[in-house]
Amino acid sequence: MQTTHIEHIGIAVKDLKEAISFYEDVLGLKCYNIEEVEDQKVRTAFFMVGQTKVELLESTSPDGPVAKFIEKRGEGIHHIAFAVKGIEEALEHARKKGVQTIDQQPRKGAEGLDIAFLHPRSTLGVLTELCEDKSK
Ligand code: ZN
Repeated sequence: MQTTHIEHIGIAVKDLKEAISFYEDVLGLKCYNIEEVEDQKVRTAFFMVGQTKVELLESTSPDGPVAKFIEKRGEGIHHIAFAVKGIEEALEHARKKGVQTIDQQPRKGAEGLDIAFLHPRSTLGVLTELCEDKSK
Protein backbone atom coordinates (compact mmCIF):
# COMPACT_ATOMS: atom_id res chain seq x y z
CA MET A 1 0.00 0.00 0.00
CA GLN A 2 1.31 3.43 -0.89
CA THR A 3 0.24 5.83 1.82
CA THR A 4 1.36 9.41 1.20
CA HIS A 5 0.10 11.48 4.13
CA ILE A 6 -2.68 12.02 6.64
CA GLU A 7 -5.41 13.50 4.48
CA HIS A 8 -7.62 14.50 7.39
CA ILE A 9 -8.59 13.84 10.96
CA GLY A 10 -12.33 13.44 11.53
CA ILE A 11 -13.71 14.86 14.76
CA ALA A 12 -17.25 14.17 15.94
CA VAL A 13 -18.97 17.24 17.39
CA LYS A 14 -22.44 17.92 18.74
CA ASP A 15 -22.71 21.46 17.43
CA LEU A 16 -20.91 22.32 14.20
CA LYS A 17 -21.27 26.08 14.63
CA GLU A 18 -19.77 26.03 18.09
CA ALA A 19 -16.96 23.74 16.97
CA ILE A 20 -16.15 25.99 14.00
CA SER A 21 -15.83 28.95 16.38
CA PHE A 22 -13.24 27.07 18.41
CA TYR A 23 -11.16 26.21 15.37
CA GLU A 24 -11.40 29.73 13.97
CA ASP A 25 -11.24 31.90 17.09
CA VAL A 26 -8.83 29.85 19.18
CA LEU A 27 -6.70 27.96 16.65
CA GLY A 28 -6.82 30.67 13.98
CA LEU A 29 -7.85 28.33 11.18
CA LYS A 30 -10.37 29.16 8.49
CA CYS A 31 -13.30 26.95 7.60
CA TYR A 32 -13.21 26.77 3.79
CA ASN A 33 -16.02 24.31 3.13
CA ILE A 34 -19.22 23.05 4.73
CA GLU A 35 -20.80 20.08 3.07
CA GLU A 36 -23.54 17.60 3.82
CA VAL A 37 -22.87 13.95 3.03
CA GLU A 38 -26.34 12.49 2.88
CA ASP A 39 -25.60 8.76 2.93
CA GLN A 40 -23.42 9.20 6.04
CA LYS A 41 -25.97 11.50 7.70
CA VAL A 42 -23.38 14.13 8.51
CA ARG A 43 -22.67 17.77 7.94
CA THR A 44 -18.94 18.37 7.63
CA ALA A 45 -16.76 21.44 8.00
CA PHE A 46 -13.20 21.52 6.69
CA PHE A 47 -10.05 23.34 7.76
CA MET A 48 -6.69 23.13 6.04
CA VAL A 49 -3.59 22.72 8.21
CA GLY A 50 -0.55 22.31 5.98
CA GLN A 51 -1.43 19.38 3.71
CA THR A 52 -3.72 17.85 6.31
CA LYS A 53 -7.32 18.79 6.96
CA VAL A 54 -9.48 18.76 10.03
CA GLU A 55 -12.96 17.47 9.23
CA LEU A 56 -15.62 18.27 11.81
CA LEU A 57 -18.59 15.93 11.70
CA GLU A 58 -22.04 16.81 13.01
CA SER A 59 -24.81 14.27 12.70
CA THR A 60 -27.88 15.31 10.72
CA SER A 61 -29.96 12.53 12.25
CA PRO A 62 -30.22 10.94 15.72
CA ASP A 63 -29.71 7.48 14.18
CA GLY A 64 -26.64 8.44 12.12
CA PRO A 65 -23.24 6.84 12.80
CA VAL A 66 -21.78 10.05 14.23
CA ALA A 67 -24.74 10.52 16.60
CA LYS A 68 -24.27 6.94 17.79
CA PHE A 69 -20.55 7.48 18.21
CA ILE A 70 -21.11 10.57 20.39
CA GLU A 71 -23.76 8.76 22.41
CA LYS A 72 -21.33 5.94 23.18
CA ARG A 73 -18.03 7.77 23.49
CA GLY A 74 -18.73 11.47 23.59
CA GLU A 75 -17.32 14.09 21.28
CA GLY A 76 -13.78 13.56 20.07
CA ILE A 77 -11.57 12.03 17.41
CA HIS A 78 -13.75 9.86 15.20
CA HIS A 79 -11.41 8.66 12.47
CA ILE A 80 -8.08 9.18 10.74
CA ALA A 81 -7.93 9.31 6.97
CA PHE A 82 -4.83 8.32 5.05
CA ALA A 83 -4.28 9.42 1.47
CA VAL A 84 -3.32 6.44 -0.67
CA LYS A 85 -2.43 5.90 -4.28
CA GLY A 86 -4.75 3.35 -5.89
CA ILE A 87 -7.54 2.99 -3.36
CA GLU A 88 -9.01 -0.18 -4.94
CA GLU A 89 -5.66 -1.96 -4.65
CA ALA A 90 -5.13 -0.56 -1.14
CA LEU A 91 -8.49 -1.91 -0.02
CA GLU A 92 -7.77 -5.28 -1.59
CA HIS A 93 -4.36 -5.34 0.06
CA ALA A 94 -5.89 -4.64 3.49
CA ARG A 95 -8.44 -7.39 2.97
CA LYS A 96 -5.74 -9.88 2.00
CA LYS A 97 -3.96 -9.00 5.23
CA GLY A 98 -7.06 -10.07 7.12
CA VAL A 99 -8.38 -6.59 7.86
CA GLN A 100 -12.14 -6.29 8.14
CA THR A 101 -13.35 -3.51 5.89
CA ILE A 102 -16.56 -1.55 6.31
CA ASP A 103 -16.73 -0.71 2.61
CA GLN A 104 -16.32 -3.49 0.09
CA GLN A 105 -15.76 -0.94 -2.67
CA PRO A 106 -14.61 2.69 -2.53
CA ARG A 107 -17.46 5.21 -2.51
CA LYS A 108 -17.75 8.97 -2.83
CA GLY A 109 -17.09 10.95 0.33
CA ALA A 110 -16.95 14.66 1.09
CA GLU A 111 -14.97 16.87 -1.29
CA GLY A 112 -15.36 14.37 -4.12
CA LEU A 113 -12.78 11.97 -2.70
CA ASP A 114 -13.00 8.23 -3.16
CA ILE A 115 -13.08 6.76 0.32
CA ALA A 116 -13.29 3.43 2.11
CA PHE A 117 -13.34 2.61 5.81
CA LEU A 118 -11.48 -0.13 7.65
CA HIS A 119 -13.21 -1.52 10.72
CA PRO A 120 -11.76 -0.35 14.08
CA ARG A 121 -11.88 -4.00 15.23
CA SER A 122 -9.05 -4.67 12.77
CA THR A 123 -7.14 -1.42 13.22
CA LEU A 124 -6.32 -1.29 16.92
CA GLY A 125 -9.44 0.65 17.78
CA VAL A 126 -9.00 3.53 15.33
CA LEU A 127 -11.64 3.90 12.64
CA THR A 128 -9.38 4.22 9.60
CA GLU A 129 -10.35 5.78 6.31
CA LEU A 130 -8.42 5.37 3.09
CA CYS A 131 -8.96 8.06 0.52
CA GLU A 132 -7.78 9.11 -2.88
CA ASP A 133 -8.29 12.32 -4.77
CA LYS A 134 -8.67 11.09 -8.32
CA SER A 135 -9.06 14.61 -9.67
CA LYS A 136 -5.32 15.11 -9.06
ZN1 ZN B 1 -13.24 11.38 6.78
